[in-house]
Amino acid sequence: HARAGRTIHRCYMDGQDESHLRRLALVHDLQEATERAELRLCYQPQVDAISGRITGVEALMRWDHPLLGSISPDEFISLAEGSGNVQRLTSWLINSACHQLAEWLAQGLDLRMGINVSAMDLEDPGLVARTRTAMARYGIEGKRLCVEVTESAIMHSPERAARMLKALQCMGVELAIDDFGTGYSSLAQLQRLPVQELKIDKSFMSELTPNSEGAVIVSSTIELARSLELRVVAEGVETTEVASFLAQSGCTTLQGYVYSRPLSAEAMTVWLHEHLQV
Ligand code: C2E
Ligand code: CA
Ligand code: CA
Ligand code: CA
Repeated sequence: HARAGRTIHRCYMDGQDESHLRRLALVHDLQEATERAELRLCYQPQVDAISGRITGVEALMRWDHPLLGSISPDEFISLAEGSGNVQRLTSWLINSACHQLAEWLAQGLDLRMGINVSAMDLEDPGLVARTRTAMARYGIEGKRLCVEVTESAIMHSPERAARMLKALQCMGVELAIDDFGTGYSSLAQLQRLPVQELKIDKSFMSELTPNSEGAVIVSSTIELARSLELRVVAEGVETTEVASFLAQSGCTTLQGYVYSRPLSAEAMTVWLHEHLQV
């Protein structure tokens, strides 16, 4: 019996069918991932481009699936969006992030934390209240949190996104436009949003030779940010050469493997104590 099952299983598990089955399995298992404590947050430091001082961390979600191993948020967040699981994941995220941040603040580490939200979160009328509740529960001030939203998530429904982000701003929470340069947000749209930060997408970091696409995106984003008085964060900084180019160009904050890969909470705690002046 079991052998027959395996044969059928194998027949289905190729090509398109395999990825279809994987998606089905993941969507199913995602329902219980939070209760089963299979999600965790990794953290990656953000560094002041000039002084090298650590300014904060970005929280990046991980799903340790019991059978399939570690699954990337690039895969499971879109599945969550398609299956009504985003709210559950984001609630878990906000609570976990505030909890960890409170712990680090209590240890004397002076940090801000970036958290990623998706397009569907911006359409969730309960998000603001849940953020407020988590902040109150863990004693987190709004200025400690920065919500990272992609251009495309905002463009999905700009009016509604603007209302939501303004409500977060009223609580002191900051806003970063993530993957900046990959979408189509106009200056007019940016000015209508309570933005404090632009994050240049890592796809522009690989070749930063003069007049390359990356270099043009970097310099025009910095110019835009200057005129709107915003911070510019470069993500995906992998080499010291790129880091010094970005610092010279006027980026305010840098993030990438050259400083640290995303680390577990435990490993990041050790890293922060080694690198931060308490
Ligand atoms: P993102 O917000 O643009 O995050 C940056 C991604 O680049 C992360 O991938 C990070 O691990 C990776 N990265 C960091 N430094 C470097 C580097 O120097 N070089 C290279 N090549 N990559 C680097 P990750 O952790 O796999 O996350 C992928 C995406 O998933 C994120 O892109 C974000 O859009 C989304 N995501 C992550 N966590 C969450 C979450 O809690 N909620 C939601 N809604 N989305 C999340
Ligand atoms: Ca991000
Ligand atoms: Ca990105
Ligand atoms: Ca992204």
